[in-house]
Formats: sequence, C-alpha cells, structure tokens
Amino acid sequence: MQLYNKLSAKERAELIDKAGKNRLTLSFYQYAKIGNPQIFRDHLFITWNSLDVLGRIYVAHEGINGQLSLPADRFNEFKTHLDTISFLKDIRLNVAIEQDNKSFLKLKVKVRNKIVADGLNDDTFDVTNKGVHVGAEAFNELIEDEKTVLVDMRNHYESEIGHFKNAITPDVDTFRESLDIIEDDLKPHKEDKNLVMYCTGGIRCEKASAYFKHKGFKNVYQLEGGIIEYTRQVKEENLENKFLGQNFVFDDRRAERISDDVIANCHQCGNPFDVHTNCANAACHLLFIQCDSCKENMENCCSTECMEINRLPYEAQKELRKGQGNSNDIFKKGRSESLKFK
Ligand SMILES: [Zn+2]
Ligand SMILES: [Zn+2]
Repeated sequence: MQLYNKLSAKERAELIDKAGKNRLTLSFYQYAKIGNPQIFRDHLFITWNSLDVLGRIYVAHEGINGQLSLPADRFNEFKTHLDTISFLKDIRLNVAIEQDNKSFLKLKVKVRNKIVADGLNDDTFDVTNKGVHVGAEAFNELIEDEKTVLVDMRNHYESEIGHFKNAITPDVDTFRESLDIIEDDLKPHKEDKNLVMYCTGGIRCEKASAYFKHKGFKNVYQLEGGIIEYTRQVKEENLENKFLGQNFVFDDRRAERISDDVIANCHQCGNPFDVHTNCANAACHLLFIQCDSCKENMENCCSTECMEINRLPYEAQKELRKGQGNSNDIFKKGRSESLKFK
C-alpha cells in the first residue's frame, strides 16, 4: 500500500496539466484529541491520495491542520470522507480566493508534536477557554470601537504585505515572540480594552486567545476563520473591506490579493511592491520582496554574494554547500543585512 508521495513536483505538474481539470485550494483546522496520530495520518493519506488530494497536512495529538488542493469534481467525495470523521463533520473549509491548479504539487501528511509550532506549554493554561469568535460584520464594527486594540498574530513577513487598517503588527519571526510583546504592551489595559486578534485562517488565534485570557485579559475576541473567511464574508454580504493589500498564504501561490493597496516595498530599491520571492541561490533561499527590475538586475538573488554563487555550475555549488546544512525552506524568514529596505 502506498503511504508516501512518490512523484516529483515536476512530474506532478505535468500530470495536472494533462488532466486539464480545475483544482480547488482550501484549508481547514480543528483542535481535537487524536489518540494515535500515526494511524490517523496513514488513513488520511490512503484515502486522500486516492482522491488526488495534494497539500501539506499536519496531524498531532491536539488536532489537524490542513492546506490542500484537489480536483473540483472530487470535492463531494472529499467532503463525504471528512464527514465520516466525527471531529471533522461539517467543519468550515476555507476555500482560497485566488485559485491556482498548482498551489500544491505533493501530498504530505505529517505527524507533528503540534499542529502549529506555537512554542507554548499547553499544560499551563486551559486551551479550550478561548476568545469570542466574531464574523466579518461584527469584526468591522468592533475594530472601529475606540476601546479596541487590534492585533495581527502573524509574523513580520506576512503582515508586511497586507494587514487590517490600524492593526498592531509585531515585528516578530515567531508566534511565541508576539505573545510576549503584546502582553507587555497591553499590560495596563487588560480590563478596559477589547483585545481583538486575527491571523490567516484562525488557527493561531485559537491558541492566542486562550493564552491571553489565561494572562488576565477580560475582553478577548478573534476573527472567525481569519482573513480568508473574512474576505469571503465581505464579498458575500457586500460589506466594507478593511483589509489592505495581500494575504500571505503558505502554498506556492504565496499570497492572495485582497485589496489593490500596495503597502510594502521592494527590499532592494524601496519602490512600492508586495510580491515575495525566494533568493535563487539554493543555499540561501531567503524569502524577500523583490520588484521586477531588481529581479532582473540581481538575477533573482538577495545579494551580490548569492548572485556569484548562483552563477557557478551546479556541481561547484553543491561542493560549497557541503556540510552547510540545507536551508531549502521557502518560508525562511525574510531578514538579511544585504537588504537595504528591510
Ligand atoms: Zn526593486
Ligand atoms: Zn540569497
């Protein structure tokens, strides 16, 4: 029985083109007690592989977090399968706003300690005592309230290209860091302010809201389903959109455009630009913002050093990398001394 992905990304991309079918990109998460994540993982892999699902899914004792794509015409079968799993029955699926048939090219279902790397010791607080969930309409009202402090729970490279008007966007590389910064900043207002938070799909706020309540914040709210669900509701209910720019997403699309505002800058020339790229030097792979003309001048690299390495023949590059460890992660933090405008 096949339990792991066998095709390369290139082979998969060719198959998708050949099939010529539209694919849906979607995400979901659920905190639930899973007794044996490995068995559950294998079950998901076998079933979803047969439905031509691709994506990145994390399974842990605390639940499941999935970002995936599947052929649109198999959606009902997929949904039927989800409904056979008690804690996934009728779960909200966040369907991507911009579709791309190649958002994912492999099916990876991984067992992890946690479904989000939150750095928290969950035994120290009650994770089920979470904040009040609000939909788009209530959220829009709440964030206009002068008693409200709106906080972006994502990392710096996410909020940089898009965030809600007037949101606090901590300059952090990890979720754990932002918790401390926010707690510190808002210490005097634990009782008199509304702490309203949001993230991409809601999963991070689920923990953060429980954490802040544990820390003594009295009025804690979270945006239900995150930016993805907010955008859907805004469209469907014809509400005012208060999100500026792009929503960073964790698949090959990198981001979804929510409003036409460009709130970020090219990290090399400083011109307005809000599309991330990865440094072409495989040993670097830094995630950063690079406009089209800098991309051309810099050969898609983050620095002249990387440019020089990237020009070497593949074998020579490999030789250089020996013993360096692989930093081939497309979400490597976008920070580097060589980027002038970061
Ligand atoms: Zn530029
Ligand atoms: Zn580089």
